Amino acid sequence: MDPSSSGTAEQRVGAEPIVAGRMLRLIYVVGYGRSGSTVFERALAATIGGFRLGEMRHLWERGFLNGELCECGAPVPRCSFWAAVRERLGLLDDPRELLRLKDRVDRIRYIPFLNGSLPMPSTYRRRWQTWGRVIRGVYEAIAEVSRNRILLDSSKDPSYAYLLRSLFGPRVVFVHLVRRLPAVAHSWSRPKPRPEIHWTDALMPRYPLLRAASEWTVMNLLAAQLGNRNARGGVMVRYEDLLDNPRGTVLAVAARIGLPARSYVWHDRRTFDCGPGHTVSGNPVRFEPPVVTIRLDECWKSRSGELGYRLLMQWDALVRRAWDPGPFPTDAEVRR
Ligand SMILES: [Zn+2]
Repeated sequence: MDPSSSGTAEQRVGAEPIVAGRMLRLIYVVGYGRSGSTVFERALAATIGGFRLGEMRHLWERGFLNGELCECGAPVPRCSFWAAVRERLGLLDDPRELLRLKDRVDRIRYIPFLNGSLPMPSTYRRRWQTWGRVIRGVYEAIAEVSRNRILLDSSKDPSYAYLLRSLFGPRVVFVHLVRRLPAVAHSWSRPKPRPEIHWTDALMPRYPLLRAASEWTVMNLLAAQLGNRNARGGVMVRYEDLLDNPRGTVLAVAARIGLPARSYVWHDRRTFDCGPGHTVSGNPVRFEPPVVTIRLDECWKSRSGELGYRLLMQWDALVRRAWDPGPFPTDAEVRR
């Protein structure tokens, strides 16, 4: 059920086109952190000729408020692209006000309102409508400034995914990216620098195995529910398939979501050129040169003998059947 289906025409913010008269597609990578979404987004955006945004959900806090680095190397408030977007929005004197509103709409606890399982209380509906206008406005401004009608967002958070679906309906397509739990947990256990915080030495947070396992499970279950309800059925990609067959997997995703592929951006089956970008947040690999080679990464296997990792492997095998729809890409899709 579309949560915007009740109310006046003015209240049905999701019923309006993102860009008047021009159909715009939003490709949203959904799942859990440390699943390889930044490199996947770079590969998919290059292949379908879309404009990559990185983790857009963090634009307001990490970007406009904190001034972390854009992919181009400039702090987001001083980046010419984001300055143009901000100027078009014309409402960003103090991002703190917007952050307060975001936190009162975009939370996991509100997913039942966003997916129509529960009726929206009137107070929540008003917040959703107001924040919805901001969100629609920012994607509209990005489409105009980038002159691209295909936008990719690798925020991953399921709550933001449900919010986008409540606003944009079938114009947002979800790509559920899943990486094996032991690899994800291993990544969360290691110290990693955050170069986008350019005014000091900062590290990404580190999570114990139990926290990584519980969040990986919840986020992927929420993401899977979303894909099943998408008009096009969504698509689920295993990160391990991307590592094993980068070009074939990305071309298959493009075909599944119905967008023509520019296979010429691939130099060979592992290397592609994504060009310069203005992603607002994401893994530090976004600061690396635009010619990217996707290599196997199996360093977590050095710990596969430890009890904790053996348990994670069993948990992974047990629960992933809840969202894994079977082989993807199929042999026929890889041959395209
Ligand atoms: Zn930039």
